[in-house]
Amino acid sequence: MICNICPRSCSAKREEKAGVCGVGEKFRVARAAPHFWEEPCLSGTRGSGTVFFSGCNLGCVYCQNQQISHGAFGKDVSSDGLKRIFDRLLESGVHNLNLVTPTHFVPMLAKTLAEYKSPVPIVYNSSGYEKAETLKMLEGLVDIYLPDIKYFDSAPALKYSGAADYFEYASKAVLEMHRQVGETVLDADGIARRGLIIRHMVLPGNISQAIKVFEWVRENLPAETYISVMRQYTPFGKAKEMPPIDRKLSSREYSLVKQKILAMGFENCNFQSGEAATESFIPNFDLEGVDL
Ligand code: SF4
Repeated sequence: MICNICPRSCSAKREEKAGVCGVGEKFRVARAAPHFWEEPCLSGTRGSGTVFFSGCNLGCVYCQNQQISHGAFGKDVSSDGLKRIFDRLLESGVHNLNLVTPTHFVPMLAKTLAEYKSPVPIVYNSSGYEKAETLKMLEGLVDIYLPDIKYFDSAPALKYSGAADYFEYASKAVLEMHRQVGETVLDADGIARRGLIIRHMVLPGNISQAIKVFEWVRENLPAETYISVMRQYTPFGKAKEMPPIDRKLSSREYSLVKQKILAMGFENCNFQSGEAATESFIPNFDLEGVDL
């Protein structure tokens, strides 16, 4: 198959050679385990059942999961293998199945999800760099969309992710996600059952991006839209030599962003505490839950 499913449109023949996303025609997974550091409405008390897919179509210079996103570390698994991974996570009692960075697997994922019929919500957790038309394949199969909107302007999107057209695609993708699942619905225990949660990780020296992104969200989606404003940025890889993203976010920068966002009138905001900016939040990619 010639692959053009994501905005990179790289026309890779994935059965022969990996595309820009770094993977071929099979699912590749680096870790599958309960995760307790997602938003409280996803992690709850029993954890979110995260499945970390290998490879990535965005490739940010500061990615904290570089081993699997840039290096594509992981194990190839079949559709049946992925279903066994889901079964194992469900046995541990997780609140949901949380598919992390699945963009480059959407057509095969749609087929697997249609066959699997999960008893808990399926979470689609992505960078937001997607084609809206590709997301249509997931209609009725994903319960909760958890996209990033990383940048508003082309310059930082190009500099840090090599994707000047990032916002053009991410904005349309998020509107398509909202069309499919609507507003976030929580159960009596405060656990998300359905909806959209938009994330933005505030980058040091780039707080204007956070403000512009959330102004756009406020103008284009309802006030009750769930947003998550992340302060956990820690420099990794090339970012360690790229000021101003060679340092952590300051408390002052995060407070300023928080103030501006609160003034915009959002009804459901998740803000992170200072302890979030630590490497302990980064999972260990050792094929846990994959080597079945
Ligand atoms: S999903 Fe991968 S192979 Fe397909 S267009 Fe995007 S980068 Fe290329």
